[in-house]
Amino acid sequence: MSTSIVPDLATYEVWLLTGSQTLYGEETLRQVAAQSQDVAAKLQASSDVPVTVVWKPVLTGRDAILDVMLEANAAKNVIGVITWMHTFSPAKMWITGLDALQKPLLHFHTQANVELPWDTIDFDFMNLNQAAHGDREFGYIEARMGVARTTVVGHVSDPEVTKRIGTWTRAAAGRAASKSLKLARFGDNMRYVAVTEGDKTEAEIVFGAEINTWGVNELAAAVHAASDADIDALVAEYVELYDVAAELLPGAERHESLRYGAAVEMGLRSFLEEGGFHGFTTSFEDLGDLRQLPGLAVQRLMADGYGFGAEGDWKTAILVRLSAVMGAGLPGGASLMEDYTYHLVPGQELSLGAHMLEVSPSLTTAKPSLEVHPLGIGGKEDPVRLVFTADPGPAVVVALSDMRERFRMVANVVENVPLPAPMPNLPVGHAVWKASPDFRTATSAWLAAGAAHHTVMSNQLDVAVYQDFAQMTGVEMLTIDEGTTLVEFEREMKWNAAYYRLNQGF
Ligand code: MN
Repeated sequence: MSTSIVPDLATYEVWLLTGSQTLYGEETLRQVAAQSQDVAAKLQASSDVPVTVVWKPVLTGRDAILDVMLEANAAKNVIGVITWMHTFSPAKMWITGLDALQKPLLHFHTQANVELPWDTIDFDFMNLNQAAHGDREFGYIEARMGVARTTVVGHVSDPEVTKRIGTWTRAAAGRAASKSLKLARFGDNMRYVAVTEGDKTEAEIVFGAEINTWGVNELAAAVHAASDADIDALVAEYVELYDVAAELLPGAERHESLRYGAAVEMGLRSFLEEGGFHGFTTSFEDLGDLRQLPGLAVQRLMADGYGFGAEGDWKTAILVRLSAVMGAGLPGGASLMEDYTYHLVPGQELSLGAHMLEVSPSLTTAKPSLEVHPLGIGGKEDPVRLVFTADPGPAVVVALSDMRERFRMVANVVENVPLPAPMPNLPVGHAVWKASPDFRTATSAWLAAGAAHHTVMSNQLDVAVYQDFAQMTGVEMLTIDEGTTLVEFEREMKWNAAYYRLNQGF
């Protein structure tokens, strides 16, 4: 059965808006229209761009510009607009429209031709192909109005260009998902923990995410209402998909634990589906009538695109959900991750990340094993869980902290590596990674930023998707990557503190 709640990004639209003016006459405007339709078609045809690109008629006046922006605002499946000033479009006519626009904006600075036709070029050509200064006029008004935007420069035939635009469309899909996100919290945050706390009202203002709490026994009631027939069907699916430990198989001594794990999944899924939720949190300190900490169920729900945060961590649940949406259709996945412990051999430092149970099997292409072991925390029955190592390859870990007057996203570009040696006594899903630019710089910067121990790990997305998302959302973004030095990172944090406090006004 398909139970994924990851949207098909092709159902989302971005509109290509082409700017010009009436001065050039009908013939030139016909050519502008034809050339911009061609650009829209090439973006649409590119496998780098996962959304539907829609061409809109050439804009030559203030009223039409305002109308199309208002239309984009109102259309639920429109996640952003791309603007291109093919010719010269005096920018005062864009002020009202840009002021009204509430969706992400990409300024595409391009032109129809790649090469200049040196031997035939005349002034008609110059008149038609003048984005080099038309887009400068537009950039001025964007800068003067302080419009949040991403600028992409280059010809549509350049793969770097389509890749960059594709990245932005993924972030725009995340922005749309964030504005309709519904999270269910079961129980509150882990007692005394600071970083998982935060202002949920502010989160609804900034991200648009609805974050509300339900009594865990409502979930327990849904779990205990799961039918034997449904549990049988789900157990059969587990047996097909995973290497199920012999003691958990039908008829074996601990099969009941697996059946209970299946009931937890049935109950959680039905609760989330009925409420239209896209994510949830649990708390091992508040399990009510639940007999196991949800492990296997949470792992599988994350792989289906649900956001999740452990110990009441709704901020990480937001990140996991948005990452699943932004990564739609790409190999890999998104998961709750927690920096746990280090391999500190100088020059070979590695981080071992895991959680009590809840790491998504979307991080591996190998067949996970399904096992049951004691938890040693929470005082409940032994929970079932999937055990695996995340695939080697590039990944990113991202954390969200509430800095009181703003949310701060911190990303570290990492490389997941193969297990240096087997870990037969660590039966949880896990990842082992090397941080960029190096362990000491990355970790110093992470701590300096007050970034959380809970993160989302994505092995689908480039860090640029998160940077675009932060820009669209007005959230502070700090990136730790190959170019990071501690001196510059700390300076950037000081500038940011000044900017975000001043930008808040009174
Ligand atoms: Mn934790």
